[in-house]
This record gives sequence, C-alpha cells and structure tokens, in this order.
Amino acid sequence: MTTENRVHRKHIQRRNELVETLRSKSIRDERVLMAIQSIPRHIFIDTALENRAYEDSALPISCGQTISQPYTVAAQTELLEVKKGAKVLEIGTGSGYQAAILCHMGADVYSVERHEELYHKAKKMLHELGYRASLKLGDGTLGWSAYAPYDGIVVTAGAPVVPDDLIKQLNIGGRLVVPVGSQKSQVMVRITRVSEDSYQEEHLQHFKFVPLIGEKGWD
Ligand code: SAM
Repeated sequence: MTTENRVHRKHIQRRNELVETLRSKSIRDERVLMAIQSIPRHIFIDTALENRAYEDSALPISCGQTISQPYTVAAQTELLEVKKGAKVLEIGTGSGYQAAILCHMGADVYSVERHEELYHKAKKMLHELGYRASLKLGDGTLGWSAYAPYDGIVVTAGAPVVPDDLIKQLNIGGRLVVPVGSQKSQVMVRITRVSEDSYQEEHLQHFKFVPLIGEKGWD
C-alpha cells in the first residue's frame, strides 16, 4: 500500500471514530452523522494540524478564527432539521466545513463571511470538492436578503442578541439556530417561524463561540 493510501485509510478510520464519539454525545440524526463521516475535515485546516483534524475539538484557522468543534457542527445541523433541497443560510463561513456538511446533506447553501481571506479560501475549497454553495463577503448580522426567505439559518459565531434581520429572513416553518450570550458563553437558541407573525423560541445547551462582529452583533 502506498503512503498516500495509508494516510487516506487512517483519515477514514478516524472519521468513523469521530462519528461514534458524536453518537455517544447524543447526536442522533443519521444524515448529519453520514455527512461528518463523508467530509474530509482535515483539508479545511492547516496541514500542521492535520493529525488533530478528527479530534472532537475546535481548531484554529486563519484570521484568528476557528473551525467549530465537530460536536457543535453536528448539534447545530441537527437543530436545523435540514431536508434535501432546503434553502439554508450560514452566517460565518470560516473554513467552509459546515457549508460542506450542509451541501452534502442536499441543502441549497448560502454563506456569509466577514474576513476576505477566509471567504476566498472557503470558496476555493468548496469548489474543489464540487459543492455549489453561494458565498458572500460581508456582514452576516444583516443576513442575505437577496435570496431570502430561508428554510434554515445557522449562525456559527456568538451573538449578543438574536439579530432581528435574520428572523425576518426565515420562511414560515423555517428555523434559526443562533448562539446568544456574552463573549465567554452562549446558549443555543432555536427560533421557529410558526406563521407570518408568530415565532416559537427554545433555549438549549451552552457553547463557546468566537464573537459575531457586525452591525447587529458585537462592535
Ligand atoms: N462555520 C465555520 C466553519 O465551518 O469553519 C466556523 C466559523 S467560526 C467559529 C465563526 C466565523 O464567523 C468566523 O470565520 C468569523 O470571521 C465569522 N464571523 C463573525 N462575525 C461575522 C459576521 N458579522 N458576518 C459574517 N461572518 C462573521
């Protein structure tokens, strides 16, 4: 077996182990688990960190940002209840990993990132993987009104309050999953648009995200 094949098999084995870890942490949606099993997380991070790609931990990427912990990605994706063909907006493209997971699950993905370097890197990576996500460089606290309404909106950075523009860009029946709190800790909030003017709000587990910076986020 060539070295390349050996490394490839090692990554597959580690992804399988990661999926078992996520199951043991109560991730139940098989479609989410299958996406995590399929997407090579190691290619979204620096090669120096490749050995740690399948640990269940957040890792540094460029611009002082992070690729979220796999458990966090799985939990947020599960909360979105993404169906094939659903239109999903992600705020905080970062490495592009979460966007790849959503694409793999058959969602029509839109994603906004405020750092130009990350935007370009993620765009290239998703293109190389053959995913057709639409990416935008800008302030995601305002959403992306041109393509609204969305069936799901996921915010992958911690917000001080729920950004009201995002709520307005939800489809009826759509879900917004957003971590809200201080810069040290946030509670995962899920808002479901029940009708034109009524919403259901759930407060779930605590997490720690990098801050959501922008007009409707932190300064
Ligand atoms: N989803 C990402 C992934 O799969 O790698 C993880 C993203 S990281 C935890 C959060 C990202 O949100 C960072 O890349 C950060 O630059 C971005 N961010 C923060 N505030 C933002 C804003 N107002 N608009 C768009 N992106 C923002």
